[in-house]
Amino acid sequence: MKLLFERSKTDRAMNLIPPCEVECVSFDDSLLRKEPLRLPEISETDLSRHYKELAKQTHGVNDGFYPLGSCTMKYNPKIDEEIASLSGFTGIHPLQPEESVQGALEVLYETKQLLDEITGMDDMTFQPAAGAHGEYTGLLLIRKYHQSRNDTERVNIIVPDSAHGTNPASAVMAGFKVINVPSNPQGGVDLDELRKAVGPDTAGLMLTNPNTLGLFDPNILEITKIIHEAGGLCYYDGANLNAIMGRVRPGDMGFDCVHLNLHKTFGTPHGGGGPGSGPVGCKAFLKDFLPSPIVMKKEDGTYFFKTPEKTMGQVRSFYGNFLVVVKALTYIKSLGREGIIEASSNAVLNANYLMNRLKEYYDLPYDEICMHEFVLSLEKLKHETGVSAMDIAKGSLDYGIHPPTMYFPLIVHEALMFEPTETESRETLDEAAEIFIKLRKMADEDPEYLHQAPHNCMIGRPDEVTAARKPVLRYSFENE
Ligand SMILES: *Cc1c(COP(=O)(O)O)cnc(C)c1O
Repeated sequence: MKLLFERSKTDRAMNLIPPCEVECVSFDDSLLRKEPLRLPEISETDLSRHYKELAKQTHGVNDGFYPLGSCTMKYNPKIDEEIASLSGFTGIHPLQPEESVQGALEVLYETKQLLDEITGMDDMTFQPAAGAHGEYTGLLLIRKYHQSRNDTERVNIIVPDSAHGTNPASAVMAGFKVINVPSNPQGGVDLDELRKAVGPDTAGLMLTNPNTLGLFDPNILEITKIIHEAGGLCYYDGANLNAIMGRVRPGDMGFDCVHLNLHKTFGTPHGGGGPGSGPVGCKAFLKDFLPSPIVMKKEDGTYFFKTPEKTMGQVRSFYGNFLVVVKALTYIKSLGREGIIEASSNAVLNANYLMNRLKEYYDLPYDEICMHEFVLSLEKLKHETGVSAMDIAKGSLDYGIHPPTMYFPLIVHEALMFEPTETESRETLDEAAEIFIKLRKMADEDPEYLHQAPHNCMIGRPDEVTAARKPVLRYSFENE
């Protein structure tokens, strides 16, 4: 496919910039370009076709099944976009006076209340722009709390070995040391190992429950008690709340703070690196440390911003990605209380259905009822046939399925992690099951074909290390 620069023809440019309406300012010569900016010159038709062509080469939830585990790739309802594009939301400025943006403040306040209820927390900030950013903010809350009590010895954050990779990374970013605890044979936290790991140096624990194996840890109350008795706090990674929303609350499991990914559970797009939202909720005793500002409501019903007393400052400009919050509020309100509960039931049902259809054909290392996702191991298959998790994942691309998450969590070798989400029909799950069964048979019959897969995609097997380390993000002109 030709790039825009390669399609460019002199003097074919469109004039998209309207004439300047304000007085022109002249700059000092030293600030001016020596040569005109090299922009591709292309007609509107060709430009439109170019982007359409690019769009056809991507795979999104609107193209087909997307069981990317731990990512909750659910359908993003169009009504969310419609509400978020109302001019009353898009045409406001964060520096406007409070009294002129009461509706926007009400959105933040109401979403906070709904999410506090769903998580069992008392207050919340919408500043963090993603899940990992939320983790970092939550850890700063824990840090501030210990500092405020002059308890400066608490430098360790305990993280189970099944944790999402962002957890230890965020802990290090927030200035803590990471202590790993191993899982028990059932895939939960090993309580004896946890007891050995805690002490006067324990700042807290980071946990996701259900964990990245898709398993709900039945010892959760004991786990949070062990941490609290050692003087630490408990952080809940709530990126995927899909299995428990409306049913179990992190606050009731003993957690002190939590982040959510609105761009997973609450139906807003992941955005390909675009805007996300990772709000952080906390129990009342931590709320004075939250980032500033927080929306409050007066008795007369008006909303205002407040700087929490011992605030950590700001972790991002203004109030976070506001329009993402609008979408999440639309999502929650259009589902309603019953809809939220039904969504989590269906997410769990769909994952268990697919798991049961596949477990006769692939190894299931933790053969238990799963929550929103499950993990297969292809270690034995690879040993017997040479076909790896990567080969099966690449093979699924030829059938229009986005591969499951590969090689994660690390404690399962040759892992494939499936998360169908609640928005898939039984027919889609059946079709996907048939495709993965077919790929399993192909592993015995024609492993070489799978080693070469995908056969029908633009790009087959890129050198992923080079692509990540030396990405080519800029067009090179011939004369450069
Ligand atoms: C996705 C995810 C995160 C990180 O969220 P980002 O928005 O990608 O930063 C953290 N923890 C878990 C369990 C996740 O699934």
